[in-house]
Amino acid sequence: MKVPLLDLNSQNLALAGELESAFTRVLRSGRFILGPEVEKFERDVADLVGARHAIGVSSGTDAILLALMALGIGPGDEVICPSFTFFATAGCIARVGATPVFADSCPVSFNLDVEDAARKITPRTRAIVPVHLFGQTAEMDRVMELATAHHKLAVIEDAAQALGAQYRGRGAGSIGDFGTFSFYPSKNLGGFGDAGLLVTSNDALAAEARLLRGHGAEHKYFHKKVGGNFRIDPMQTALLGVKLPHLAEYSDGRRRNAVFYTSQLAQIPGECPCPKKVGIVLPSAYPHNHHIWNQYTLRVIRGEQWNRTENPRDALQKFLTAREIGTEIYYPRPMHMQECFASVAGAARLPMAETLAAECLSIPIFPDLTHEQLEMVVTAIRDFVAQNA
Ligand SMILES: *Cc1c(COP(=O)(O)O)cnc(C)c1O
Repeated sequence: MKVPLLDLNSQNLALAGELESAFTRVLRSGRFILGPEVEKFERDVADLVGARHAIGVSSGTDAILLALMALGIGPGDEVICPSFTFFATAGCIARVGATPVFADSCPVSFNLDVEDAARKITPRTRAIVPVHLFGQTAEMDRVMELATAHHKLAVIEDAAQALGAQYRGRGAGSIGDFGTFSFYPSKNLGGFGDAGLLVTSNDALAAEARLLRGHGAEHKYFHKKVGGNFRIDPMQTALLGVKLPHLAEYSDGRRRNAVFYTSQLAQIPGECPCPKKVGIVLPSAYPHNHHIWNQYTLRVIRGEQWNRTENPRDALQKFLTAREIGTEIYYPRPMHMQECFASVAGAARLPMAETLAAECLSIPIFPDLTHEQLEMVVTAIRDFVAQNA
């Protein structure tokens, strides 16, 4: 039996009947751009997150882009984001003509190191983009304090991986000026193609984002601003609307799997004391965070006596692949070391981002994993550690 990193069929096919009738409803409505289907979904997500407005868009990437555009961020501006993140976080900053300024990460939560972000503020800084990586929120109180202390920097929460997560009881995405989400199929609310959404409780920013979503036109063919086509499809929101009531149950399933892994793998040596050959550091959730476990990400630590040239994380990945267990390296190269950012990042060093890129390995966590599959993953990791003891 194989253990894929993600299997969407069990989740989607369980709702096949409802999905098909949602499809048929939109088909028969004859309306394929915005309208009541989209508005209903936007209201439901706004309520779930705890924000006043939600604006459905074409992808999680476009949600970040639109947030930056609505805030009027552009050439000459600097925007701070973590280096250890998915490319879209930084790519969108560059696409509006601003300069991404990369900050280091926390080794425990994998999220923005707020002290390092503070060191990177200059008179040109306009915004901070914390990322709620792997489903756990960044330290938002400290991010907001930092933003307020510096002439009210804007805050965009990249919550692509964190729909339904909470920080001290508040919905991920509802704390900054904007929160952005993705419905890419691997996210906790996985859609049927590309789609995203942004939330805000600021009426003026919401109006601006809506305007820019449709080519900056309040009335068709009369353009107040230069926007883009960032619309979400009603077909997409109708289908997502079928899955949305199940989101909490999906995330609970992921959490159950995370608790199982942690209970079974906790005896393996981690970082301290120094492992002989290889150590495995398990991910953890801060007690004030409601973590939704979009990923369960291990750190594979190289011990003093590791005597192979191969990175031990890569060795574990190969070992698991040989047992038909799917894994992924999120993310193998931090943003400050990407070719496309060479001119902005220069020779900057971000030690923790670089360490995480070398050590991280995400293992299967999707809610429909069977107990047998979970056991196979645990056994394989234990065997790898035993062979390298
Ligand atoms: C998935 C993701 C995005 C982009 O979402 P898309 O819908 O794929 O465009 C942005 N940021 C992070 C952290 C993500 O995980």
